[in-house]
Amino acid sequence: MAAYRAPLADMRFLLANVFAAEELFASMPVTEEVSEDLISAILEEAGKIAEGLLAPINQSGDQQACTWNDGEVTTPTGFKDAYRAYAEGGWAGLTGAVDYGGQGMPKLLSALIEEMFFAANSSFALYAILNTGATLTLSEHASEELKARYLPKMYEGVWSGTMCLTEPHAGTDLGIIRTKAVPEEDGSYRITGTKIFITAGEHDLTENIIHLVLAKLPDAPPGPRGISLFLVPRNMVDENSELTGERNNVSCGSIEHKMGIRASATCVMNFDGARGWLVGELNNGLSNMFTMMNYERLSMGLQGNGLAESSYQTAAQYARERLQGRAPSGVQNPEAAADPIIVHPDVRRMLLTMRANILAGRALSMYAALQLDTSRFHPDNAARARAEQLVALLIPVQKAYASDRGFEACVLGQQVLGGHGYVAEWGQEQNVRDARIAQIYEGANGIQALDLMGRKTVRSNGELLAILLEEIHEFSEQAGTVVGMNRYLPVLVEAGETIKSVTRELISRAEDNPDEVGAASYAYMELLGLVLYAFMWQRILASALQQRNAGAGDQQHLGGLIKTGDFFFARLWPKHKSLVAEIQAGAESLMALSAEEF
Ligand SMILES: Cc1cc2nc3c(=O)[nH]c(=O)nc-3n(C[C@H](O)[C@H](O)[C@H](O)COP(=O)(O)OP(=O)(O)OC[C@H]3O[C@@H](n4cnc5c(N)ncnc54)[C@H](O)[C@@H]3O)c2cc1C
Repeated sequence: MAAYRAPLADMRFLLANVFAAEELFASMPVTEEVSEDLISAILEEAGKIAEGLLAPINQSGDQQACTWNDGEVTTPTGFKDAYRAYAEGGWAGLTGAVDYGGQGMPKLLSALIEEMFFAANSSFALYAILNTGATLTLSEHASEELKARYLPKMYEGVWSGTMCLTEPHAGTDLGIIRTKAVPEEDGSYRITGTKIFITAGEHDLTENIIHLVLAKLPDAPPGPRGISLFLVPRNMVDENSELTGERNNVSCGSIEHKMGIRASATCVMNFDGARGWLVGELNNGLSNMFTMMNYERLSMGLQGNGLAESSYQTAAQYARERLQGRAPSGVQNPEAAADPIIVHPDVRRMLLTMRANILAGRALSMYAALQLDTSRFHPDNAARARAEQLVALLIPVQKAYASDRGFEACVLGQQVLGGHGYVAEWGQEQNVRDARIAQIYEGANGIQALDLMGRKTVRSNGELLAILLEEIHEFSEQAGTVVGMNRYLPVLVEAGETIKSVTRELISRAEDNPDEVGAASYAYMELLGLVLYAFMWQRILASALQQRNAGAGDQQHLGGLIKTGDFFFARLWPKHKSLVAEIQAGAESLMALSAEEF
């Protein structure tokens, strides 16, 4: 197995050149002190944690997995020490609210750190990101009293957080959850119900676990409008944030045995009249939870991308060393019986598909993270509102497209190793197993596609897309001055025109036949994903060319980026044509069979 190396050169290039992060941070009061030096130092430290602390317990964690005994969950050897080191390093509060002990760092930076942690050890990363998401929801929606009582310890990493939505009969359709919340006289609630698939619902990494639970009051309106959000601690906490010694009525009934992320505890959680406190307003729970879900969905795209990077590193090293066959263009390695497999065009196809999608996926994740930061921190109302609209459009695409491409990359990385990719030794099969879940949880990718097509496109009458097209147009105007970009920019204009005309056609077809939205949604998400990857590649190319033209930066690194961008436009971008054809094929052939005919 190749040792994971944090891809710091690519990350720094994206931050400094493509996204001009320092300038951006300077424009927002909350982040104005985040300098390039600070970012660079934090990234480097995070890289060390990923390489030195998390990667070494990745394979053993998978093999050992979590175990359950009488309600208690034990994580694999090394996880407890690693989590302590993670907490003591201040990582749990990196993006947290400064007033409660967090460090107020932007998502644009933490997204890259998450990618590294997912790459090195996805199971471990899940404990961390669930806590980050829970603290974010609390800091945005909870009362001052709840924030003061819970946030500091969660930022310290002494307590951790969860997100309890799913029930045995309610996954995608949360409107039908049955967990009940009954008001008590003292203002608290008694929560009763069963939640399943709860990541980090029970474990031995922290001294307390703070659950964020969706439940309904007995007289709540039916459907999603009757859902409220509650904070339910596993161990009761007094007003000084100390444990009282009393255990709440929350227990872990069992854990799942699963395909991947086997060191992440996936728990059945039973709430038996547990005491909980309302977060935000009554019946607004789902919308409050969406604060967390936008961030968690971004994380799932990052999980796919991180694992793809890890798989790519192993595959590239292996392809340089494994000797099989001779190069079609003539012997390259006459001293040996065979040439390294990196000489074969088909092996290069796999490696370059991985690399081109990883770089675009990372850039898209950063672009979405940047919009999240702008929507929260920008001093100008209009800038915040515009960024919020972009977040709404980008998140479902980033989640689904990057996790799909991530899984696909892990399969390619496995294929590069042939049979050695299938056996456990090289870690490639674990990457495949660990990446698969990112396509399913946090809303299955089909649901992301529906959200994009239905709510974000048809119902907004293409308004959100129009903002993205403005961004693309603005970039094209600026990039037109960069020598060398005239080769690429016409493709971006074509990309914009394609998505615009397909969207217009779909909006009009949806008026006549409601099935058209669902029938087109997945291909539409993939088309917009491909357009966004093309947009990201153009941004990367413009910055790389600018640097190269000025003779600045690492020329070999820049050359590699430019050649990978050329590969993207030559070999991956043409797939947009088949996606357009698929969308235009309409709903008829999909809906023709009766249920019995399947
Ligand atoms: C390892 C793991 C960890 C998880 N962690 C958490 C967690 O921490 N907290 C939590 O609350 N949940 C968690 N989940 C639950 C996860 O979010 C759900 O499994 C997921 O959202 C899908 O719900 P479901 O499994 O009930 O599938 P279903 O909702 O039954 O969907 C099954 C299939 O039907 C499709 N489908 C459903 N409805 C529609 C529709 N209206 N239109 C078109 N297609 C549709 C879906 O896309 C999917 O392909 C986790 C799950 C796993 C496996």
